[in-house]
Amino acid sequence: MLVARTLSKEYLSGGRPLAVLRDVSFALETGAFAAIVGPSGSGKTTLLGLLAGLDVPTRGQVVLDGVDLTSLDEDARARLRGEKVGFVFQSFQLIPTLTALENVTVPLELRGERGAEARARELLDRVGLSGRGHHFPAQLSGGEQQRVAIARAFVNRPRILFADEPTGNLDGATGARIVELLESLNREDGTTIVLVTHDLGLAARTQRVIRLADGVVVSDSGAEAPAEPLIERAAS
Ligand code: ADP
Ligand code: MG
Repeated sequence: MLVARTLSKEYLSGGRPLAVLRDVSFALETGAFAAIVGPSGSGKTTLLGLLAGLDVPTRGQVVLDGVDLTSLDEDARARLRGEKVGFVFQSFQLIPTLTALENVTVPLELRGERGAEARARELLDRVGLSGRGHHFPAQLSGGEQQRVAIARAFVNRPRILFADEPTGNLDGATGARIVELLESLNREDGTTIVLVTHDLGLAARTQRVIRLADGVVVSDSGAEAPAEPLIERAAS
């Protein structure tokens, strides 16, 4: 479903290249529920942006549902995102001048779909906000805004949903509801989900944990066990 092949990303910093990701490789099956974890600044948001086709790597490849994103131009990537990808930004990024219902309807209207409002209402209902469609983002709590953002990301029935720190700005109980919502989208709809989190409790609820440090994958629960035992283990 999703393959990262020796992905590297460099930014120019004071005229010199700064390596933010180095040789990141992994593969996720369709229907996977995976977490990318790591300390702040380790490259998680950058990696998520590359995987979702929001940004392009300096080197390496991303293959999403059989399509090499790095072979597409910006328009083709945008089209593919509209068809297959949902993205929940860390800061929600709802449009403040639109109601909750209108925010969820936007992606469908961009595709010129009929029945957009009915589908948007169905999604708001699914995230437990059926009574809040007419409210503006500023009138909603952080948890409610996050649920609107998830409804919006899911309204196009994406094959894969990316979420950057989906519980990062929420209290424990509200965060737990968001996790349950993501779990149900994974289980009931078969949506592949990739989330970024530094909440180890949340990561433990996923099936696959990929850990980054300093732009490098330092552990991957889905990778094959090393052929030779670790020296530390052998010694203890
Ligand atoms: P994380 O999400 O794990 O906190 P990020 O992917 O946001 O990490 O950032 C990783 C590193 O890349 C940080 O050192 C950050 O400062 C740097 N970085 C991110 N975006 C840019 C950019 N557009 N230009 C230059 N440096 C960037
Ligand atoms: Mg980040």
